[in-house]
Amino acid sequence: MIARVGGMCYYRPQFVENLLNMTQATQAQTSQKPATFTKLVSKEGGTEYDLLPLHVCEETFAPLEVAYDHDAIRQQVSRESIEAGPNSIWRYRDFLPVATNNPIDVGTGMTPLVRSKRLAQRLGIKNLYIKNDGVNVPTLSFKDRVVSVALSRAREFGFSTVACASTGNLANSTAAIASHAGLDCCVFIPADLEAGKVLGTLIYNPTLMAVKGNYDQVNRLCSEVANTHGWGFVNINLRPYYSEGSKTLGFEVAEQLGWQLPDHIVSPLASGSLYTKIYKGFQEFVQTGLVEDKSVRFSGAQAEGCSPIAQAFKEGRDFVTPAKPNTIAKSIAIGNPADGAYALDTARNTGGTIESVTDAEIIEGMKLLAETEGIFTETAGGTTIAVLKKLAEAGKIDPDESTVAYITGNGLKTSESVQGYIGEPLKINANLDSFEQALERSRTLDRLDWQQVLV
Ligand SMILES: *Cc1c(COP(=O)(O)O)cnc(C)c1O
Repeated sequence: MIARVGGMCYYRPQFVENLLNMTQATQAQTSQKPATFTKLVSKEGGTEYDLLPLHVCEETFAPLEVAYDHDAIRQQVSRESIEAGPNSIWRYRDFLPVATNNPIDVGTGMTPLVRSKRLAQRLGIKNLYIKNDGVNVPTLSFKDRVVSVALSRAREFGFSTVACASTGNLANSTAAIASHAGLDCCVFIPADLEAGKVLGTLIYNPTLMAVKGNYDQVNRLCSEVANTHGWGFVNINLRPYYSEGSKTLGFEVAEQLGWQLPDHIVSPLASGSLYTKIYKGFQEFVQTGLVEDKSVRFSGAQAEGCSPIAQAFKEGRDFVTPAKPNTIAKSIAIGNPADGAYALDTARNTGGTIESVTDAEIIEGMKLLAETEGIFTETAGGTTIAVLKKLAEAGKIDPDESTVAYITGNGLKTSESVQGYIGEPLKINANLDSFEQALERSRTLDRLDWQQVLV
């Protein structure tokens, strides 16, 4: 089937048609739990689709989203049943679009929610929490959540090869979890990614394509590959299932706060998916009676060198104008964000804001979080902390309101971004005199000058 609108062309490949029968057969064999997810629904116009590897509405070209039977979930699920579940995202499996009782569980999720003392003090606010997905399993970013869901669903569809278009962290996650599940894997990244992200993909031995171009060009290429090969692209034809995994960052925070919602959240934005799905997660917990309804402000963070959503917010637009990325925050450098318009709605409807910060502020943010909380985050986390600081300084965070800052990735993967900004070790001779001299000087010098203390 081919649809054409405004020069764009959308194919429903033959393999998708073939999957319809196959999927029903597979589900009949493996499904032991009554499915709580019912269909795919277009975000514009509401056209409904079968639960297939499809991501775009054939009529409006809007993204498709998974719909659930919330009454069924309400009957099956309680706070106690969730608490008795696995110590991973799969404790929320009734809210996830996977039919089998044996999803791919590598321990993803249930990362720490840390009550901040020193960073809160520094920023002049009282009730701050850090959700630290920089220590997520297996690859130290929030992407392990979305990939665990996408590959579980890919296996139900019968895909033997999975793939992704990645800004770095998704490459690591897809390659690692595909290895665990025994699936063939092909990963596409922009050629200029950080060494840690490349190495952290290659170690799992996928096919790794480094594309000469930015993420948006990589993504376009992958859409073509998805249409011509019968592969499961986690963030293209599996995107409706994949993106649901981000809801678990909302669920966990609500559970970890003692079954209540925070007053305010700050999250980074790349495509805008994570941000809007945290919102969906909170809504679903309210709809199923697990938490009380409450208004939560949603604030978002972008790097100035790639801030199409923040720009649109500032200018009061309800559409996003694509940008050409130029920032050290590569993991969130998406110039043409798929969920940008929905992120704008979320910020405006909740009384939040979307801000951008410079690369220098991002590095300061990384250092600030490390020095106050002992958490080494990557550039995306530095972006979140820099925006949090900006909001606190502008009085946009009520000192008493509970605020959650989402830290989505680990600093060891983007070490080159802070190289040159964190000083050097003090090189000394192996004797006490040399040590005492260096110690004396280190007390009078800014640490950036330490490298001069060569004795
Ligand atoms: C991918 C990514 C994000 C944001 O993802 P979207 O859902 O596309 O907005 C944020 N932080 C890190 C570290 C990421 O890798």
